[in-house]
Amino acid sequence: MDHLRATTDQPFDVVVAKWGSGEVKTFDSLVRHAREARGVAHPFPSPSNRQCTSDLKTGPIKSATLTKLCELNGLPVYAKGGCGSVVGSPWRIVVMCLGIRGKESTARSQEIPWRLNLPSSKEGRAWFRWYPIFDWTREEVFDEIFKHGQEPFWTYGMTDEHLAMIREKHPKATHGMSRLSCQFCIMADDHDLTVAAHLAPAAYARRCELEDQMQSTMMMSRKRLPIITGVIPQKSLLRKRKRNPEFLNPWSGLESNPMADFVMNPVDSVTVTPTVHRLRSRLLR
Ligand code: SF4
Repeated sequence: MDHLRATTDQPFDVVVAKWGSGEVKTFDSLVRHAREARGVAHPFPSPSNRQCTSDLKTGPIKSATLTKLCELNGLPVYAKGGCGSVVGSPWRIVVMCLGIRGKESTARSQEIPWRLNLPSSKEGRAWFRWYPIFDWTREEVFDEIFKHGQEPFWTYGMTDEHLAMIREKHPKATHGMSRLSCQFCIMADDHDLTVAAHLAPAAYARRCELEDQMQSTMMMSRKRLPIITGVIPQKSLLRKRKRNPEFLNPWSGLESNPMADFVMNPVDSVTVTPTVHRLRSRLLR
């Protein structure tokens, strides 16, 4: 978010999913709610039931967008967001712009990069979905980032030294994550889960704890995270969470990790890499 704030002159809103009580809705609380309130045996979301996406991302973002549209039009906003019809108002078009690429998966390759979202196009508004980098290759994405003098988000790159440390335990580890949306995604591959387990040991410990408490697995393979990643969760990090609420920062908990310097000062670490070209070539390996 700091990066986005620093590189745009547009208004920048952060949308947070909430329960009816006003409490922040998280992946963890979604899972606990499925088990405790609905008695679901396997309470984790799955690729065919991506409640995490709808409840934590698309739903709240849609609601916030409708509210914004109403505010722009000077219309009174309902308590639950939105204001009904915007017929005759000056602002009636929404373009939802997402950075997905067709080459990320077979399912994504079949999407249409510019289309009218019919279910959301009502009450006088037209709602489009636009994927501006849909046809780009991974190479072109990083080229564009470097062309503008910026650096990729640090989880996509590591110094050789840090990679060497990770490879002591995980010989197959490569530089950084190949894709990143949620830190521990239900659809991530084994490699990305392993890298995330190293980059965010506190969050990893919490997710492993959740699997233990639910007696269930996050991944459809039905393997527990430590089996997939080979990383033993550091239970001591869970105790720290109780003493220090700041510890809930998803990328925190790294002080006992050999990558601490890198992670605590990710930008500096990337900057000291001899040339951006070396970083770029690593990212593209
Ligand atoms: S990135 Fe993965 S875990 Fe996160 S909302 Fe999407 S599907 Fe769910």
